[in-house]
Amino acid sequence: MRGERLDKLLARLGLGSRKEVGRLIRSGKVRVGGGVVLDPGFHVPEGAALEVEGRPLAVRRHLHLLLHKPAGYVTSRKEGPSVYALLEGFPTRDLSPVGRLDKDTEGLLLFTTDGELLHRLTHPRHKVEKRYLVHLLHPATAADVRAFQEGILLSGEKTLPARLHLGEDPTWVELTLLEGRFHQVKRMFQARGNQVLYLKRLALGPLTLEDLPLGAARPLTPEEERALY
Ligand code: URA
Repeated sequence: MRGERLDKLLARLGLGSRKEVGRLIRSGKVRVGGGVVLDPGFHVPEGAALEVEGRPLAVRRHLHLLLHKPAGYVTSRKEGPSVYALLEGFPTRDLSPVGRLDKDTEGLLLFTTDGELLHRLTHPRHKVEKRYLVHLLHPATAADVRAFQEGILLSGEKTLPARLHLGEDPTWVELTLLEGRFHQVKRMFQARGNQVLYLKRLALGPLTLEDLPLGAARPLTPEEERALY
């Protein structure tokens, strides 16, 4: 079997977009099996040692991308405008979103090629925290805090205990969930007679957006990967 194209492999390993890694290769900074390769279309033999700018590169099996999703994009390949349009330059074929954000929701959306990781991060059994910033029509109350802690009935099934944090302005709150049911945040506030005006996911487990600009995507850092596994 022919190995993977060099530019595709480097992009999959998170070194940049296809175009960026193409430039890197043509500048003579990439070695395969000890020799400089200048052709981005070179097929890398299975198991060949890679070096970029003099440093050995471990060939990882999986790619994980963090997207700062803007409102107006659908978490779907079939409907548009699709969040996949924001991942241009990355090899998206095997990437799946870890949960979904509604079209009008902003924030952290993780994509991964690792099906096992996807399952672990999304299955409620594993209780991975998802933290949201929420702007509400009406101020949230201490009674809402208690109700969310006890669980809210949605479609006949109680939600897992959720942490609602009220700041100085109780129309701007943070909510931490341990699961990701369909429109869960909006439905929980609706059940309390309130309405979500703006929603942003700030964190997923150990991952946060840091200074990633709205609409931008980047591979996870090695530290972030370690924190997930
Ligand atoms: N809850 C919602 O209601 N919408 C989202 O996009 C995410 C969580």
